[in-house]
Amino acid sequence: MVEAGYETVAREIIKCTRCPLHKSAIRRVIGKGSCNPKVFFIGEAPGKSENETGIPFYGRAGKELDKMIEYMRLSEEDWMVTNTVKCHPPENRKPRTNEIECCKPFLLSQIILLNPKIIILLGNTAEKSFCPGRKLEWGVPVEHEGRMILKLYHPAALIYTSSKKEIQRAFIDKNRDLWS
Ligand code: SF4
Repeated sequence: MVEAGYETVAREIIKCTRCPLHKSAIRRVIGKGSCNPKVFFIGEAPGKSENETGIPFYGRAGKELDKMIEYMRLSEEDWMVTNTVKCHPPENRKPRTNEIECCKPFLLSQIILLNPKIIILLGNTAEKSFCPGRKLEWGVPVEHEGRMILKLYHPAALIYTSSKKEIQRAFIDKNRDLWS
């Protein structure tokens, strides 16, 4: 049932031309993971490798996300990951506000269908998309429109700033109850 609904959303995404990003998309990057997740991760936007493969968090940031998921002690069935927009922004730029807004109905449909226990916003762009106008503290969970959300560092930020890895682990340790 969930899978069928998810496939319907995926088909809509594949043919979408609602914002200019469809022009730079080779593949639509819809999501990766379980259709019955406890944790729903939201990243920023598909990069070059994601655009070529159609797989979110492919490459270095993906490896860092895998490490994070392992540290969280999540199994394969426990999580799903997507981005604020499903098409690659040219020159790897950040998605613009109008593009995020155009794509948001797809993000919300995914969340409603999958009904995760917690949404983890990976960085500021995910925060801007999911709860515009709110400024969350890193690592501090809050309720937003009836769901628990938690803002953590984007895995790409952990690659270049090793001190953030320790802080991220502390955030995870402090919040394990949210997905256990
Ligand atoms: S980014 Fe989203 S709204 Fe824009 S064209 Fe792609 S699927 Fe449609």
